[in-house]
Amino acid sequence: MKVPVFCGKDCGGGACPMLAEVEAGRVTRILPNPRSGKWILPCSRGYALASEHYSPLRLRSPLVRRGARGERRAQGAGGLGDFREASWDEALGMVSGRLGEIADRYGPDSVLALVGAGSTGALHSTSALAKRFLSLAKGYTKLWGSYSNGAARFVLPYLLGPEWKMSGFDPATMRHAEMIVLWGANVLEARLGSEIPARLLEAKARGTTVVAIDPRRSQTVDRAATWHITCRPGTDAALMLALLETLLEEGLSKDEWASERSVGFGRLADYVLGRADGIRRDPEWAQPITGVPPEQTRRLARAWAATSPVMLLPGYSIQRTRGGEETYRLTLALQLATGNFGKLGGSTGSLNNRLPTPRIGGMDPLDDPDRPAIPVLHWPDAILGGREADFPTDIRAALIAGGNWLGQGADARKSAKALDALEFSFCLELFPTPTALRCDVVLPVASPLEKEDIGIPWLGNWLAYKPRICTPSASARSDYEIYAELAWRMGFGQAYTEGRDEAAWVATFLAASEIPDIEAFRREGFWLAPEQERCGLADFARDPTAHPLGTPSGKVELESAALADETGGTAIPMWTDPPGGALRDSLLLVSPKVGHRTHSQGGDPESVARTGGHYLSMHPADATARGLAGGEEVRIEGVSGVARAKVRLDEGLMAGVVALPEGPWLPPDAAEFEVSSSPNLLSSTLDHGPAQAPSLHGLRVRVGRIQAES
Ligand code: SF4
Repeated sequence: MKVPVFCGKDCGGGACPMLAEVEAGRVTRILPNPRSGKWILPCSRGYALASEHYSPLRLRSPLVRRGARGERRAQGAGGLGDFREASWDEALGMVSGRLGEIADRYGPDSVLALVGAGSTGALHSTSALAKRFLSLAKGYTKLWGSYSNGAARFVLPYLLGPEWKMSGFDPATMRHAEMIVLWGANVLEARLGSEIPARLLEAKARGTTVVAIDPRRSQTVDRAATWHITCRPGTDAALMLALLETLLEEGLSKDEWASERSVGFGRLADYVLGRADGIRRDPEWAQPITGVPPEQTRRLARAWAATSPVMLLPGYSIQRTRGGEETYRLTLALQLATGNFGKLGGSTGSLNNRLPTPRIGGMDPLDDPDRPAIPVLHWPDAILGGREADFPTDIRAALIAGGNWLGQGADARKSAKALDALEFSFCLELFPTPTALRCDVVLPVASPLEKEDIGIPWLGNWLAYKPRICTPSASARSDYEIYAELAWRMGFGQAYTEGRDEAAWVATFLAASEIPDIEAFRREGFWLAPEQERCGLADFARDPTAHPLGTPSGKVELESAALADETGGTAIPMWTDPPGGALRDSLLLVSPKVGHRTHSQGGDPESVARTGGHYLSMHPADATARGLAGGEEVRIEGVSGVARAKVRLDEGLMAGVVALPEGPWLPPDAAEFEVSSSPNLLSSTLDHGPAQAPSLHGLRVRVGRIQAES
């Protein structure tokens, strides 16, 4: 029997439809769902749903901390640290009791919702379910911003007004592109949409020029690019300025078209051409910063101007850097300068997933805009510093769900210290992650195969469905069920559930949807909305007077007085040299996503086994200069501490750049951190711009022999 299912990991794809082959009540295989066609396809993480579900590493019982905080966690039965197994009744009683006590003693704002990622879905949205619970409890402190794309999301509303949420494109429009520029967008591994990988590969096969600007020869570069340009991480804004300079200098830019649709284009041109300060931001100026030869920059600018339409797809990586805010101001400027903004087969240069998904109901998180909030980057600083450090609240407890925050956030040492400083924390998890093992109570949650839900994609005009395929074992409960039971114990069960079980919620959401045939949707697991070639802000681009944006000027604000006033930054995007001297003199770390796991979630030992381990990739010339050999374990020193990893020599990597993949689990004991290989042992919560977004690429590091330096 084949049953529809989807993978709802919050991964950059978001809801890939699939089929589960079920024999004698056991899922034997996960297959593509033919109803979703040849474009909307899952990745290896989706095909691993069954092995994740049946993994022997999954939590089998609620766990309750036995020892005091700070005790060595590597000890204890089953390698799970200093915990004992508990009944659901005891574990839930402990959570409801401690939450109530802490809210009474310190106020409800003392509870932090450390939630996000995890799973998407109309019902089983990790973050909506948790926020709804805490809202109805007595309140909480929330996070604002984003580890993923915080800098882009911060600046885009200044440039585009509320219409920034309409500035993406449907992947089907990629078939109209004559050239595709992937700028730091490793879409075959990081995804950025369930449909983009297949569309991209088809575009390449059809003869479309695919330019990949990336310091690494990623899988995307290897399989999809026809032209690879390596650019030093953290310097993309300088390369963008040099491209603009070439366009302007050689008379290739559509100045009038861009000026009709933006404010500040002329002032940006003055800056780029050096009219204001005598410094031309030409390709020769950019080369020492970016490492890109001037002839490559000019060739790209000329190709961009000579081809139409050009689709620019900026990845998140280019804004997860120091000064990352500037990059997305300049991607929009490039698409305006070349006349590709809002054009079918082109793009605005904004975040690609900014288009509405089909209408469907969803769990209301009961969010309150006046609730105290801290930037997500600073959650450890807020716990450790509280009001004395100018945060709005003193955090005493945390609800943790949807992620292994210890491995996913900046400065893992500080994160561990912060988790240990809490008076009480509990988490909902499938696996005994290092974050879970720093909590007081760990509640095992149901797997995706054990939950009915409606899948909402990150990018695309369609929906997916899955029934409950496997009956949850006695040891696991869905997030919804856990919060509902806690809510009943705390006196607001009716308000949380509104009298509905999970099936009733799904039926309610479907009834509120635009899906014409709900029974067919349930049967087939997929519904494609009629419009499949939406091009963000096309009306504005065609006629900016008739369809103005909601910005003060009605146009794209390449020059933004509000941005300058509110952030102390510059009204037009500019390049500023990094503190500490030129980046070319340093070894720069990037921490790329890998295709087989979403951040740090899942069973890490299994993901390590699939790939053969975590490595520090290094160009052979850099290794030779340091007397290092492939396979050798090295010490990596960054701004917040040290890590270790084995060297993998990689000629496809730009010299001067090293790559350590994001997401490996840290050991339970912080004393062992420095012999592990998480790049977040090397990053900081403090190096940020006005968006307070993380800088996780282009970090200066030193790499050397262990015996020589320790
Ligand atoms: S792209 Fe994301 S949602 Fe789709 S299968 Fe992969 S992990 Fe799951």
